[in-house]
Amino acid sequence: MIDQLGPADVLLRERARSVADEIRDLARQADGAAPYGDAWQKAIRTLRDQGWLSMLIPSQYGGGGSNLLSLVIVQEQLARVDGGLANCISHEACSAVAINRAREDLRKECFERMLRGSLTCIAITEPDAGSDIGAMSTTAEAVEDGYAISGEKAVASLAGVADIFLIWAKTDPSAGTKGVSTFLTTREHPGIEVSEPFDSLGFRQLPHHRIVLDDLHIPSEALIGAEGKGLRLFAEALNVGRLGVCAQALGLALGAYEKALAFARERRTFGKRLVEHQAIQFKLADMFMAIESVRAFAYEVARFMEASQDLGGKPTGVYAAAVKAYASDMSVRITGEAVQILGARGLWKSNDVERLFRDAKVTQIVDGGNELMRIRVGEALANGFPR
Ligand SMILES: Cc1cc2nc3c(=O)[nH]c(=O)nc-3n(C[C@H](O)[C@H](O)[C@H](O)COP(=O)(O)OP(=O)(O)OC[C@H]3O[C@@H](n4cnc5c(N)ncnc54)[C@H](O)[C@@H]3O)c2cc1C
Repeated sequence: MIDQLGPADVLLRERARSVADEIRDLARQADGAAPYGDAWQKAIRTLRDQGWLSMLIPSQYGGGGSNLLSLVIVQEQLARVDGGLANCISHEACSAVAINRAREDLRKECFERMLRGSLTCIAITEPDAGSDIGAMSTTAEAVEDGYAISGEKAVASLAGVADIFLIWAKTDPSAGTKGVSTFLTTREHPGIEVSEPFDSLGFRQLPHHRIVLDDLHIPSEALIGAEGKGLRLFAEALNVGRLGVCAQALGLALGAYEKALAFARERRTFGKRLVEHQAIQFKLADMFMAIESVRAFAYEVARFMEASQDLGGKPTGVYAAAVKAYASDMSVRITGEAVQILGARGLWKSNDVERLFRDAKVTQIVDGGNELMRIRVGEALANGFPR
């Protein structure tokens, strides 16, 4: 690896790498167990103890106050062993970005709870509003002292254990995307019904649920920012999420490549080591080149987003979409090649690469399908980007 990092980031990477190796067995166990089981709890506790579930909580509230490059480095190393666990880091970072815009008292309370161990839930996607988020039909009706929220959310990660809920709903259903607002509430409020988690192909350490919001009454202070500005706030969190998915995709590819390379150096066929067959060398060379180039792109976008100071702005959105789509497509290709190099052993759960392959597929969908990423980049180019 060509080192693009300063000494502090190198240390962080080494720590993340060794913690990831320590929780490898837990990730494998959790993959085959019921959601939120003992192995999952232990792995999450480890991430929390390292401070990686509070990286974007500002330091004045006791959080990490980390920069985006550090967030990428940690997720990259964690995803070498599990994509869903790495995404939990991103998920909590996205929530912190949104919560940081809430009123001071609510922000302080939620950050304190997160630091004591509470997890969050981001509820925006609906049965008929995924990519087309403006089509959402959940409403937040103004009532005496606050809002009454009703509707259904289709895919809400960690909702089964979360204490803190970020909910997007329409305060003005006639205003399309400009009628969406963001609310912050906690599980104690009656009116949040969470289903059993879906049994998912990948990211099994990030269980996701359907939620029904049934006349959820919350005070007016629960509104984050102004009415109608919900999608702008969502863009800030989502761009951090897309950079995170890029880091997870990169780490999944790296983990699979490392396994494939180690295997190819040991396994012998036709009288020589697998790595000495040119067909396998070409595969490994392609994997190496893809990973190195995606890492350079990912770190540059992280630095760019950090410097831009505008997480919801257009350039940030275009680069976050571009790096997410590029990294996740690469990850599916590379993890698939790793399975191929291991042959039958690549299909065995005990060898991990099949899980990395399943997780890689998720990175093409989560936080926005890659078709939408290409639309975002393509439309920007048609409109004169980067000018
Ligand atoms: C593991 C996981 C965790 C998630 N966690 C959360 C969460 O915590 N909170 C939350 O609110 N959401 C969450 N999501 C939802 C996620 O953001 C959506 O799945 C995503 O935005 C796509 O929406 P959809 O699944 O409804 O697909 P759809 O919008 O139905 O799209 C289906 C397919 O068509 C493509 N497509 C859509 N429109 C177009 C178009 N115009 N042109 C070309 N192709 C198009 C899409 O890219 C996709 O491949 C999660 C998803 C996953 C996979």
